[in-house]
Amino acid sequence: MNPTNISALVQQFPILRRIQAEEEIAWINPEKTDHASSMENCELSMADIDNAEARLARFAPFIKKCFPETADQNGIIESILTPIPTMQAHIDQKYHSHLQGRLLLKQDSHLAIAGSVKARGGIYEILKHTEDLALANGILRQGDSYEQLASQEAREFFSSYTIQVGSTGNLGMSIGIMSAAIGYEVIVHMSADAKQWKKELLRNHGVIVKEYASDYSKAVKNGRALSDQNPRSYFVDDENSRNLFLGYAVAAKRLSDQLKDLDVLVDADHPLFVYLPCGVGGAPGGITFGLKQLFQNAVHCFFAEPTPAPCMAVGMITGLHSQISVQDIGLSGLTHADGLAVGRPSGFVGGIMKSMLSGEFTIKDAHLYDYMRDLLETENIFLEPSACAAFQGPVHLLQNDETLRYLKENHLLEKMPQSTHIAWATGGSLVPETIREEYVHTYLK
Ligand SMILES: *Cc1c(COP(=O)(O)O)cnc(C)c1O
Repeated sequence: MNPTNISALVQQFPILRRIQAEEEIAWINPEKTDHASSMENCELSMADIDNAEARLARFAPFIKKCFPETADQNGIIESILTPIPTMQAHIDQKYHSHLQGRLLLKQDSHLAIAGSVKARGGIYEILKHTEDLALANGILRQGDSYEQLASQEAREFFSSYTIQVGSTGNLGMSIGIMSAAIGYEVIVHMSADAKQWKKELLRNHGVIVKEYASDYSKAVKNGRALSDQNPRSYFVDDENSRNLFLGYAVAAKRLSDQLKDLDVLVDADHPLFVYLPCGVGGAPGGITFGLKQLFQNAVHCFFAEPTPAPCMAVGMITGLHSQISVQDIGLSGLTHADGLAVGRPSGFVGGIMKSMLSGEFTIKDAHLYDYMRDLLETENIFLEPSACAAFQGPVHLLQNDETLRYLKENHLLEKMPQSTHIAWATGGSLVPETIREEYVHTYLK
């Protein structure tokens, strides 16, 4: 984008000025529609989510065999949903959140195998590709138990194929660990933001890690080019993959059961608010899409992004989606939230979210560490900094003029006492002890 276009955009969308100044903002999506209208021209549907869920069930015996830590859930990778009343009382006192209703934590931070939300989309995408290859090549026949994918013969077959992906860290971990377990050659193209311990962990799994001095987009571009040269190589395209998106969307069906177990009602009089940390958009977008199918107009989804890299907010506000980057408006894209360090959003996800997303919050890096310590001290749960972006929603929902107006206009204010709020904790359980110590002692201005 050239500078003249940018100044015209800033005139048209004044909130961009505050985003350029790295202020924390809340933004309400003016293009959100009711659920039925939002589905009118949508390329995906509930049937696609059901398909993805069934595929994960077919793979469960294989996953159980390769990853014994999933045995108690019979090979289904799922996280718990828990009330966090001590944290809720604490944020009320410390930040004057005035949040009514109940605050819950969805602990994808503790998902088996990958320790982050990427255990949903990333692993699903690899399983889908594996099923396609195995069925096409007679490694599996319809009706076979997928446990046999763990056989020596199957592993040898997959070892002649390559998987490649560009990643800021967590996607590489989920794709890398699962692909290596199946037997593929795996190459993960890591951006400069990726943490050293993630690279080492992957190398220990036999994954080839290529490092780039530049950001995520460059790592993706190079990875894709290299993969395209090899007909036996499959490139996981985080920005455009429908499979990845559907893998994330399955979370909604599981969450619906968990809400029932907690006796949480979701309907017009009992609204559900969900706060999701956002990078390129696939994970929060897929989960939002799934939640909208299940709860329609009763669920209100908000994304949270770091102030130096609010790519989805910039894409949605301007309507330019992947045609604009945070660097175009003068932001660095550099953030301590490595999982969210993305400069350009997914255009595919932005297109679907345009009519579904309620809004966005942005958060300064310093506050990620504050919320991290708050949760650790009150609930003894550790999250990585990126995941803590989720708390910006419940802390600010009732303090911000924009979100307050949304609540009033949608007749939600009077329903707040019977509302439920979910902070989606997207990562953390694999962070090594020494790094956790560092994080706990990190104070930024
Ligand atoms: C990847 C990631 C996200 C966001 O997912 P996107 O698909 O990039 O939007 C959020 N939190 C953590 C910890 C992540 O690793």
